[in-house]
Amino acid sequence: MKIADRRSQPTQAHLPPDAEVWASADPLEQQMERVSRLGKQLFGVAECVVLLNDGLLDSPQVQAASPAATFCASLPLPAESIFVPDAKLDRVLSRHLFVNGAPHIRFYAAYPIRNQQNELLGSVNLLGFTPRTFSESEKILLADLAALMERELQFKSVNAVQLELQKKNKSLRRKSLIDPLLGTWNRGAIMRILTIEAIRCDKQDVPLSIIVVDLDHFKKINDTHGHPAGDSVLVKVASRLRSCIRPQEALGRYGGEEFLVVLPGADNKTAMAVAERMRNAVASQSEVIGNAQLQLTISAGIASTVIFPTATTEELISRADVALYAAKDAGRNRVMEAVPEAA
Ligand code: GH3
Ligand code: MG
Ligand code: MG
Repeated sequence: MKIADRRSQPTQAHLPPDAEVWASADPLEQQMERVSRLGKQLFGVAECVVLLNDGLLDSPQVQAASPAATFCASLPLPAESIFVPDAKLDRVLSRHLFVNGAPHIRFYAAYPIRNQQNELLGSVNLLGFTPRTFSESEKILLADLAALMERELQFKSVNAVQLELQKKNKSLRRKSLIDPLLGTWNRGAIMRILTIEAIRCDKQDVPLSIIVVDLDHFKKINDTHGHPAGDSVLVKVASRLRSCIRPQEALGRYGGEEFLVVLPGADNKTAMAVAERMRNAVASQSEVIGNAQLQLTISAGIASTVIFPTATTEELISRADVALYAAKDAGRNRVMEAVPEAA
């Protein structure tokens, strides 16, 4: 026997045969099944049907097409407890198809399930095929069964609210870290990533390198084609830069048209190669924005702990910045590496 078979058997094997039909993985449905089994045993009736207003057709018993569930679902949800010792003698129920004819239901009791706002959510129903009286202590027990369902529904709604809050929190947190225009990390986030990676790389004794990227003559693009066109250019460039890094590396918008790339584990040579790849990715193909075809270029400066082993993150950035401005001075569309000042 395979392990999977063994695992799936015990949950069903100790259930009564009719419960097996509607054994469910959903916690609410499981509770409905539990209450149903309890009701049958407690009162020694033929059926105990748990119905919920919200999605009656989802009820496992209704789905299993049990006549008892169909009978209960055909009646209005009880606003108060109902006890019918003999349905054949009841003015209303005696005319019901399932009382008049097969399966000849005789005994019927129902108790409402309500939420904390006292709204009617469903019912616990007992059915028998012989007339039956119902004692005061049994009435309390049936109310207890309904209370079990009420607890489960309350738990489910608290869980749903919690889940929704968690989702909202996650999305808000994500929004607070992402640049809304470019979809890259924003300045705060990329600085945090840099700090975390600097500590990690130091601990693991591996190098850390960074790249500062700046668009060349970007102001001219804004001035010539307008700010919205400038925005589109930024989006396109960010996408080209992103295509040059691996998942464990990070790209963030450091300033207006300036990017910071964090490369954990990369030495200065690797960082130079990545920066060169970025430069080439931008320069190799012109970008069409509206009616204009723009030839874009970037300049970049890199700094690495291979060259500055004791540098703080701020120092690495300012070193990369110096290299970037050297690249600009040297004519732009190029990559320069930060080196220690000559003594
Ligand atoms: P250089 O080659 O020396 O870097 O020249 P540059 O024109 O790119 O540099 P400068 O720093 O003088 O200009 C940057 C421009 O970027 C100025 C600013 O208006 C523009 N900018 C900054 N953020 C945005 C943005 O989000 N959208 C747009 N369209 N423009 C922006
Ligand atoms: Mg610029
Ligand atoms: Mg700039």
